[in-house]
Amino acid sequence: MNKDAKIFVAGHRGMVGSAIVRALISRGYENIITRSHLQLDLTRQSDVEDFFYAEKPEYVFLAAATVGGILANSTYPADFIYQNSQIQNNVIYSAHQFNVKKLLFLGSSCIYPRNCPQPMKEEYLLTGTLEKTNEAYAVSKISGIKMCQYFYFQYGDDFLSVMPTNLYGPNDNFDLETSHVMPALIRKFHEGRKQWEKKQKDITVTVWGTGTPLREFLHVNDMADACIFVMDKISSDYLYKNDVTHLNIGTGKDISIADLAEMIKNIVGFEGKICFDPGKPDGTPKKLLDVSRLTGLGWRCKIDLQEGIENTYRWFCKNIEPK
Ligand code: GDP
Repeated sequence: MNKDAKIFVAGHRGMVGSAIVRALISRGYENIITRSHLQLDLTRQSDVEDFFYAEKPEYVFLAAATVGGILANSTYPADFIYQNSQIQNNVIYSAHQFNVKKLLFLGSSCIYPRNCPQPMKEEYLLTGTLEKTNEAYAVSKISGIKMCQYFYFQYGDDFLSVMPTNLYGPNDNFDLETSHVMPALIRKFHEGRKQWEKKQKDITVTVWGTGTPLREFLHVNDMADACIFVMDKISSDYLYKNDVTHLNIGTGKDISIADLAEMIKNIVGFEGKICFDPGKPDGTPKKLLDVSRLTGLGWRCKIDLQEGIENTYRWFCKNIEPK
C-alpha cells in the first residue's frame, strides 16, 4: 500500500478496527476513510453500494462485525448470523463491484471444529462439528472466508482472510453480560478490589465455568500489526495456490482460565478469593492456533500476556472506570 492509498477500515470504532486505524496512522498512511454505524449501516446493501460508488476505496480492512462472549453468542444466535452475514456479503460484494485492489476479511478462531486437534492448523477448517455456543457466528465467518476464496477463483479478486485467536486490549467491550473473558475478569477484579479497599470482608470474584478451558490471547495492537503485514506482503495468489483458505494469527501459547484469573487478580491487586461457577458454560475445552504459517512468512507477536494485560488495565482505569 502506498502511503496515500485510499484505505477503508470497516468497523473503526471496534477494538480491532480502532487498533488498525492507530497502526496505519502511526505508519504514515494519510488517506484512511471510516464511517460510524450511524453514518453507514453495513447491513444495508444499497447504502454500502452507494458508499463504495462515492468513495472508491483501494484497500479494505473488513473489521466490522457483531461480536460477543460466550453468553451473548449463545443467547442471540439469530442476530449474530444475520448481522455478520449481511455485513460481510455487502462489503465483499461491493469491493468486487467497485474494483477494490485488496480486501482483508477478519474472522475468529471459533471457525474450527469443537474437537479440533491442537494446535489448530488452517487446513482443519470444515473437518468437524462446530462448538454449539458460537456456531451461528462461526458459520457466518466460514461463509466470509469461502466468499473471499470464491471471488478469487471466479474473478481473480485479491480478497483474503485472517483468523485471530481471542483478542483483548483498548476499546474492548467490558460489559459483564456480553463481553469475552479477559475484559470481564479485568472488570470483576477491579470492582472486587474497590470493595476490598472499602474494608468489606469476604469479597469473592466469580469466574464462569470450571476454570479448566484453555485459551490463547493476543493483544489487539499485535493483531493490527499482523493485518497490515498481511495486507502489504501476502497475496491471494500465494494463499489459494497453496490450498490455504486463510491465515491464523496468534501467539502460539495458551493458558487455563484459572491461571488467567490468577494473573489478572495479581495485576489488578485484588486480595480476596476466586470461586468458580460451573453452572456457566465452559465452551470449547481448548482453542490454540497453529501460527507456524504466518511466523514462517516473517510475522510474530511482540506483546507478552503480562505486558498486554497491564496495558489493557491501565486503559480500562483511564477510559472506563476512572477512579
Ligand atoms: P469463548 O472463547 O468463545 O469461549 O468466549 P469467552 O471469552 O466468553 O469465554 C472463554 C472462557 O472463559 C469460557 O470457558 C468462559 O466460561 C470463561 N469465563 C470465565 N469467567 C468469565 C466471564 O466473566 N465472562 C466470560 N465471557 N467468560 C468467562
